Amino acid sequence: MSALSVTLHGARDLRVEPRVPRELGPHDVRLRLGAGGICGSDLHYWQHGRAGAFVIREPLVPGHEASGVVQAIGAEVTRVKPGDRVAIDPSHPCGVCARCREGRMNLCERMHFVGSASVFPHAQGLFAQAFVMHERQLTAVTEPEVSLGEIACAEPLSVGLHAVRRAGHLLGARVLVTGGGTIGCMAALAARLAGAAEITVADIAERALEMARAVGADAGVRGDRDAASLADRFDVAIEAAGAPAALTTCVAAVRRGGRIVQVGTLPEEVPFPANRVMARELDYVGAFRANGEFDLAVAAIRTRRADVRPLISAQLPLARAEEAFALAADRSRSTKVQLIYE
Ligand SMILES: [Zn+2]
Ligand SMILES: [Zn+2]
Repeated sequence: MSALSVTLHGARDLRVEPRVPRELGPHDVRLRLGAGGICGSDLHYWQHGRAGAFVIREPLVPGHEASGVVQAIGAEVTRVKPGDRVAIDPSHPCGVCARCREGRMNLCERMHFVGSASVFPHAQGLFAQAFVMHERQLTAVTEPEVSLGEIACAEPLSVGLHAVRRAGHLLGARVLVTGGGTIGCMAALAARLAGAAEITVADIAERALEMARAVGADAGVRGDRDAASLADRFDVAIEAAGAPAALTTCVAAVRRGGRIVQVGTLPEEVPFPANRVMARELDYVGAFRANGEFDLAVAAIRTRRADVRPLISAQLPLARAEEAFALAADRSRSTKVQLIYE
């Protein structure tokens, strides 16, 4: 039984073509796609044939932010049953390397992260009508009012939660988030869950600031016009724009002894006001994907303590993937564009 799959054969070469999902092992589950969010990394693969250092070397099915509906289960599966709607954790750390064994699984040296060209053969992703996952990657969501689109936001929310974990204690903190795209908004939601007293989001696009306010940010500031007003005001800055100017804003915006978390993907080389880091004893730390925050993200979506609904800007059928990718790349119209089965 073959399933239509979005397959990238290289830069700007996206085809919707049949692929056969692998056979079910005893702990495997075959899923029909619920919703699959198009992420910045998916767009990089489509536009450039690469995402950072990861280059497409064979046809790649992208997609790592998806929900699914259980179609069939292997003989020994106990975690889910046919018909369940599930959140899907795309991360498969090896469990045996030094970083895994010290509990930092997101830094695994042999990570298999679905929809990624970081390994060869590539880890095929979730933009397919049907695919197979191990049951341990799946968490059923039983609240009928929570949509498959919302459930698909568990992965990006887990990234926001991990960024906040890397920020340290936020109870009562003043937090700046640069970038009001999906990850910036997820970081704002996560900062709120962590008890931040004041959350300001900076972006150069009005639409992104509207989104940030819609998910509960206290203020939205134009980073291109009003960055000076942010200086020296924040305990923590979370850089989610992946823009050099935004990083400069963050370094200026945190108080002495403050912390900056880099979660956006910057260009390879950026100017960096390092003396300010030295003289003001700033901490500059990275946050990469997530490590143990996935279940927390699912729980927050199930209860809508993190209400991600405003961020889902469009849903298109898988067969119209190219149009969906183009729409997702247009920040003036889109935050999170999702592919759906239909
Ligand atoms: Zn993503
Ligand atoms: Zn490992």
